[in-house]
Amino acid sequence: MKKKVGFVGWRGLVGSVLLNRMIFKKDLSKLNIKFFTTSQVGHNGPKINNTKFGILENAYDLQKLIEMDIILTCQGSEYTKKVYFNLKKLGWTGFWIDASSYLRMHKSAIIVLDPVNYNFIMQSIENGCRTFVGGNCTVSLMLMALGGLFDNNLIKRIFVSTYQAVSGAGSSYIKKLLLEMGVLHNSVKDDLKKNNISILKIESVITSLLKSRNSFRLFNDTPLAGNLIPWIDSDNNDGKSKEEVKGQFETNKILNLKTDEEVIIDSMCVRISTFRCHSQSFLIELNKIINLSEIKSILLNHNKWTEIVDNDKYSTIRYLTPSMVSGTLKILLGRIRFSSFGKSYITVFSIGDQLLWGASEPLRRMLNILIKL
Ligand code: NAP
Repeated sequence: MKKKVGFVGWRGLVGSVLLNRMIFKKDLSKLNIKFFTTSQVGHNGPKINNTKFGILENAYDLQKLIEMDIILTCQGSEYTKKVYFNLKKLGWTGFWIDASSYLRMHKSAIIVLDPVNYNFIMQSIENGCRTFVGGNCTVSLMLMALGGLFDNNLIKRIFVSTYQAVSGAGSSYIKKLLLEMGVLHNSVKDDLKKNNISILKIESVITSLLKSRNSFRLFNDTPLAGNLIPWIDSDNNDGKSKEEVKGQFETNKILNLKTDEEVIIDSMCVRISTFRCHSQSFLIELNKIINLSEIKSILLNHNKWTEIVDNDKYSTIRYLTPSMVSGTLKILLGRIRFSSFGKSYITVFSIGDQLLWGASEPLRRMLNILIKL
């Protein structure tokens, strides 16, 4: 019998990418799915390939939720906080799959990324685990990229600098970036048409616009276009951002490493003005010295989505860019070389779509694992 699945948060950024993937992979036909909402109760649900999915149910109605075998939520932490424990208190024993961070470090939850921790997921299900949470986007993308090195116990520690897309801050930031790009372009568009205009004059108009919150009237907060923001998520009050702390904790939790086996991961997380791909630059200290061709084959053989771009100028500029990866499941790796720090240090640059492997795809795959049980 098909499992009853309640989908909450299906029209948000992550939820709609997930729903599109489910349609593309024909997952919906394997489920008895109901769509829930926090704000549009009674409205029509989605119509997909001429199939209507009924009216939207109330996502706070515990009596409706309790009927579900699986609840899949991309609604956010506030929703999880309000609903999850109340549902448990009512004796619900179904499976909870969640895109939000609220339960990630909870002891009852497993962070899911099955190309990396399939065995741990299966073992946890056998041991009665019912709560499965998607990882932080940069952590999942890092593990997809470097999974082979982790599997072979080759990593001693990593320093990672991230270049994170605006979609990670929510859909409003994609709009904000595009509007800012328009404002900046409009401010100099007549000058750009002139042949003899000084580029410094154009640059000074743009720079004063970016610096002056008053003249840059559209937004109160820091501009994203022509800028970057070296802080993501809240303050951990130890000089690190919450995003930076997640790298260490979530990676070791996903890999199910014991305290004495933990890999040290330090990071500097930066928001940049790309749309949906996160890039990361890794400085990795290896546990032993091995040659680069062996490293590359370990990285490539870990999963079918990793691809390696040759470490030369042409290939890197042509292929190792966020725009080449956007909207695909590719995990691109490049700039692989020994660091000047010594032969046990390598550098790697990787790029992945943060809405796919960074958010929705691990959840879709987890749902598929559960419906096969
Ligand atoms: P989002 O786009 O803001 O959507 C969240 C909810 O907002 C929707 O499910 C919808 O709920 C409501 N909503 C209100 N107006 C809407 C509109 N005009 N269009 C679409 N939805 C509207 O949130 P999100 O970025 O997908 O994030 C969801 C969760 O995933 C968060 O916990 C986030 O931290 C996590 N996450 C996000 C990313 C990312 O890249 N954005 C990555 C990994 C994890 P109703 O239908 O109930 O009104």
